[in-house]
Amino acid sequence: MTTDDLLARHRAVLPSWMPLYYEEPIELVSGSGRRVTDSTGRSYLDFFGGVLTNMIGYDIAEIRDAVARQLGTGVVHSSTLYLIRHQVELAEKIARLSGIPDARVFFTNSGTEANEAALLVATNYRRSHQILAVRNSYHGRSYATMGITGHRSWSASSLNPLQVSWLHSSDRMRGLLARLDPEEQVDAAVDDLREVLATQTSGDVACLIAEPIQGVGGFVHPPDGLLGAYKKVLDESGILLISDEVQTGWGRTGEHFWGYQAHDVVPDLLTFAKGIGNGFALAGVVGRAPVLEEVKAISFSTFGGNPIATAAGNAVLDYLLDHDLQGNAHRVGAILRQGLDEAVRQHDIVGEVRGKGLMLAVEFVRPGSREPDPANAVRVFEECRRGGLLVGKGGLYGNVLRMGPPLTLTESEAREGLDILSAAIATVAAR
Ligand code: PMP
Repeated sequence: MTTDDLLARHRAVLPSWMPLYYEEPIELVSGSGRRVTDSTGRSYLDFFGGVLTNMIGYDIAEIRDAVARQLGTGVVHSSTLYLIRHQVELAEKIARLSGIPDARVFFTNSGTEANEAALLVATNYRRSHQILAVRNSYHGRSYATMGITGHRSWSASSLNPLQVSWLHSSDRMRGLLARLDPEEQVDAAVDDLREVLATQTSGDVACLIAEPIQGVGGFVHPPDGLLGAYKKVLDESGILLISDEVQTGWGRTGEHFWGYQAHDVVPDLLTFAKGIGNGFALAGVVGRAPVLEEVKAISFSTFGGNPIATAAGNAVLDYLLDHDLQGNAHRVGAILRQGLDEAVRQHDIVGEVRGKGLMLAVEFVRPGSREPDPANAVRVFEECRRGGLLVGKGGLYGNVLRMGPPLTLTESEAREGLDILSAAIATVAAR
């Protein structure tokens, strides 16, 4: 079976709105560490990890063994109507790591469901369906989470169970806050929050939800401290803060375990997904007990926190902590960042390099302007693939390349990927 046959079959049976990467899409058939191999035998260094989800890497013995042990018991699934030892253990660890006092954890299968659950408890707790969200955000693909997604490309329906008011994003390339320096940006963003509360809401807002670094939005992030500055205003009227840590969690930013920790604040709720299962479907929400308990009916998730996913989750978390992968993200991320900054310096097709730790993005613009250049982003993206490096795309205008490699990335792999990316940018810039 060739990739072409598979592509034709894919196109015949799967919806066209579910995009495939690359002019000639890739089928990955094996992986090890930070490398994957496609069906033609071509190998790639993976700087995207299935959208920041293969957080530890491919074929990790500790995770494989933990899952195999659970498979060996014969119990793949029991439902949460029965005690699940792995689930309880993982919840204990996550509650402790969350930084949220007296925390409760509810497991789901996806980031979307985690955010839905967070919105459910926040709106119940506050008896309000008014939500504050941030422009250029992405929170999921259900009605409520699409409704708080400030990104046209991902807003597939206008139906919205919530009443949403929008705060300005911290994009430094364009938008109202773009040209301000970080301190001015915090002040301006807080003014914006006060004005939105005063002009677009009836005051009794349920929550503000924000990504510490906007994932799909191309790794746009606010200056450190902004979420804390927001929280001071929110606290005046009891409005909850939800930190969507689906991409920023588990030490990815290098400097902190959670993205919110750069902001001198503890959120009322945080949501997680992607990396914690290292590919097994595992996600959830953590919150202060009084908030998370605000569900006055039976609610559960059939597969959420199932024995296989939570066996994987425990192994992932133990591996991450035992190997200090946050420290690795900090160290190797700094090498990558420095190399990227140097590589793009002479190329005016690059508008900005941004991000933290092993969550780094390159934004492409028309030379001498801030106008987005998605065509060049795609060219560099395809060049990287030709050179043997997988990266991701993103940004409001599709003009951003995103890198979120496994947190186990080594220094030499970082330099190898950097060389491929630098060459790709130079090739496209020279055209
Ligand atoms: N929140 C953020 C910040 C995300 O990046 C994503 C996925 N890209 C989601 C929520 C939704 O997660 P999922 O695709 O697992 O539903």
